[in-house]
Amino acid sequence: TSVSPHACPIVRVRPLTCTETRRGDRRVVHSLGDGAVHVSAARHDATFGFSAVFDAGASQEVVFEGSGMRQLVELAIDGFSCTVFAFGQTGSGKTYTLMGPLAQSETQPVSPALMGLMQRSFACLLEQSRSRGSDLALSASYLEIYNEQVRDLLSPGPPCTLPLRWSKTRGFYVENQLSVDFESLEAIVSLLLQGSQRRQTSAHALNRHSSRSHALLTIHIRSRAGHQSITPPMGVLQPSACPSKQGTLCFVDLAGSERVKETGSSGELSVEANSINRSLLALGHCISLLAKPRGKWTHIPYRDSKLTRLLARSLGGSGITLMVACVSPSSRCLSETLSTLHYASRARRVTTRP
Ligand code: ADP
Ligand code: MG
Repeated sequence: TSVSPHACPIVRVRPLTCTETRRGDRRVVHSLGDGAVHVSAARHDATFGFSAVFDAGASQEVVFEGSGMRQLVELAIDGFSCTVFAFGQTGSGKTYTLMGPLAQSETQPVSPALMGLMQRSFACLLEQSRSRGSDLALSASYLEIYNEQVRDLLSPGPPCTLPLRWSKTRGFYVENQLSVDFESLEAIVSLLLQGSQRRQTSAHALNRHSSRSHALLTIHIRSRAGHQSITPPMGVLQPSACPSKQGTLCFVDLAGSERVKETGSSGELSVEANSINRSLLALGHCISLLAKPRGKWTHIPYRDSKLTRLLARSLGGSGITLMVACVSPSSRCLSETLSTLHYASRARRVTTRP
């Protein structure tokens, strides 16, 4: 049984912000329907094709339902490694798409209508888990990669750096990462908020830290029932299709891509820019090698960055990846928008064999 495509980029174009509208920015990105997106500007007129394109008017619910996210949740329950990653320049809507507007505090939660792919997937996962009658053990870990260092966003106290290791049985893994069990939507949403605030806190200490790091939230799904087979509902993959019933669902909020080309900055910014540069380029490199026709064995350089090591399983054939390219419609973001869409187009040709 196969699901195709395994690495399918979708595009989300956010609305113009008030500031952009006030200063008279033009909208240069338009959806043409059927997954086509058109970028129009004097010298750069281009049309790209994707599995789906969501225009400024698309609600969070429409994006969730149209992205194939529900299917990804089901596959994760069936034991696959599923990854969603949002990329694009800072301010293009990555965090909004994944988690909605950030809540001010736990006492002022976001309106349910504005919740992002993450909260909607958690709800779907808990619902599925109940309706299947299977006994699933769920836990979450939340990491960020900042300047090529892996930090735990769930462990209390100041952020500590964790070693990234490799073993034959586990592949790449983070040693001593905290994994917190949860059983309700409230519990996982609260973990997400805590972790995101930790990422936010460092944003104040170090200039715009949050968009300078990659954040990875992983849900680990273990079947407590072991291998006793439970008859799955129609249309769901047979559990026998998967060797182990231990799936993951990982959400990656990538650092803004806009400084990738920037060189010659000094000090801290240059370290940051180099790290982001290195990891996003490494990711792009792996993706373009994976996109080459099969047949010849190709070495994929996952070891080139922490990010690609952590994403190795989902990129490299055994996982299923959903890429969300986020773009601003503004004329001022034109070159970044084009570069995001080119990056996404390359990923379009990657097929994996979960
Ligand atoms: P990023 O994470 O890519 O840096 P954000 O998700 O923080 O960008 O979005 C930047 C701003 O645009 C935020 O104020 C956010 O609320 C707003 N925004 C992004 N996408 C949308 C959208 N689809 N609808 C309404 N506002 C959005
Ligand atoms: Mg963000």
